[in-house]
Amino acid sequence: MRFLLLSCCAPCSCAVIKELAKSAADFAVLFYNPNIRPQAEYQKRCEENRRVCRLFGVPFIELEYDNHRWCEAVAGLEDLPERGERCSICFGLRLRRAFEYAAANGYDAVASVLGVSRYKDLAQVNRIAHQEAERAGLPYLEIEARKGGRQEARMRLIKELNLYNQTYCGCRPHKVVSPSLGDN
Ligand code: SF4
Repeated sequence: MRFLLLSCCAPCSCAVIKELAKSAADFAVLFYNPNIRPQAEYQKRCEENRRVCRLFGVPFIELEYDNHRWCEAVAGLEDLPERGERCSICFGLRLRRAFEYAAANGYDAVASVLGVSRYKDLAQVNRIAHQEAERAGLPYLEIEARKGGRQEARMRLIKELNLYNQTYCGCRPHKVVSPSLGDN
């Protein structure tokens, strides 16, 4: 099975990429994160994720940075807390694009690390991912990266690789009110 791993950043994906590469899985990492602001931060996270893929010999695909599309999708939800409806829309938008790309490029399935961080609701990510999977007609492969010592292994790898580890998820809700303002 050839699949895409949708990644939000290097710290969340490094251990999963390492483990999958070691098991000789046939996969590529997809970076589609128009939610990340400002753009300089997006570029920093993208390059760090590319570095991790290079280290483990995994193909890395970067898609468009269409932040204005993301801003339009979450308009009116800026004040909601993380794990709420804004995040559901954000996950759905990124996963839908991942499934579209997978279907158009001959991949058999999609997986993601969007629920790896302890700040995320894994059940929320999985629920939305399966909705998008059904829509696309391709399976979603759930990843459990928090149990069995995996979270600890991830933290060790972040240190070992000296990865840039951001202090916020991606959006800055109070700064997405007017997409026309651009990045700041
Ligand atoms: S907190 Fe993260 S997942 Fe939620 S809307 Fe912002 S960028 Fe997306």
